[in-house]
Amino acid sequence: MSRIPVLRTVQQVRAWRRQRLGELVGFVPTMGALHAGHCHLVAKSTAHNDRTVVLIFVNPLQFAPHEDLDTYPRNMDRDLATLAPYNVDAVFAPKVLEMYPGGIVLDRDQQRGAFVLVQGCLETLEGALRPQFFRGVATVVTKLLNVVTPTRVYFGQKDAQQCVVVKNLVRDLLIDTEVCVESTLREPNGLAMLSRNEYLLPALKDQCLVIYEGLRAGEAAFASSPLAEVPVLVVLDAIHGVYLKMPLLWAVDYLAVSHPDTLADVETVGADGATVSVAVKVPVGESTVRLIDNIQLKRV
Ligand code: AMP
Repeated sequence: MSRIPVLRTVQQVRAWRRQRLGELVGFVPTMGALHAGHCHLVAKSTAHNDRTVVLIFVNPLQFAPHEDLDTYPRNMDRDLATLAPYNVDAVFAPKVLEMYPGGIVLDRDQQRGAFVLVQGCLETLEGALRPQFFRGVATVVTKLLNVVTPTRVYFGQKDAQQCVVVKNLVRDLLIDTEVCVESTLREPNGLAMLSRNEYLLPALKDQCLVIYEGLRAGEAAFASSPLAEVPVLVVLDAIHGVYLKMPLLWAVDYLAVSHPDTLADVETVGADGATVSVAVKVPVGESTVRLIDNIQLKRV
């Protein structure tokens, strides 16, 4: 049995928070299937706040009807055991109806109620391919920040576009929470840790290393360029050179170099740096796993 209290309702979280007014509360939203990447965020939160709340909630609103909502890995007991070594004060694990009191269906045309859109940064990259995704993320994050009212909320750089969406959301809706973005934790071979890695066999995981290897080659091309404004093509050529090694059946959904704060496409990379993002579809048996990763280009 875990010693971490599990709060199931909005009312319980509000009561918990009322007893901790004046304390610094860190909040780490996750969809569970916790791994070292999530724990990295939890450790940051416990180090910098008096209290830490971890969310475990697979948010249906960010899944399209054809996506893996039903098969997304869920294991509460294992997640609580993973959190046991950390100084977590509460886990919030609501049922879907608690977060969506009016109910929710996956077909967007049938959905009724209040939703949050962060225009301008949800139309590109992941947003272009998964139009429901950031509307789902922005809506649930708004609800959660409204319920938990944390001092700080923690997100991983691994989901670079999510970080940009949340930062804009918090700024534009005047939410009194600081958004903290933490670095991406990687497997020993360089693959970004993520819950869907559970779908991958070890041999395939090794092959997936090529995704990050490509990004590193782009970073090296940027770092070694003598130009103050490095053309994006220099970075992309280096990455494509590595991606030639990808198995033929894999598909790169997008590979983009964008402004780090707005995610607008850039033609050159200069003092502001850039985010290089990639999404790759990897066939696994009868189905496909989509892996995303990114790297920040910055002048040192
Ligand atoms: P998820 O459960 O996949 O929605 O992720 C919850 C949070 O953990 C998000 O802010 C992710 O960006 C973050 N996260 C997931 N994987 C990693 C990782 N490998 N390194 C750092 N943060 C991560």
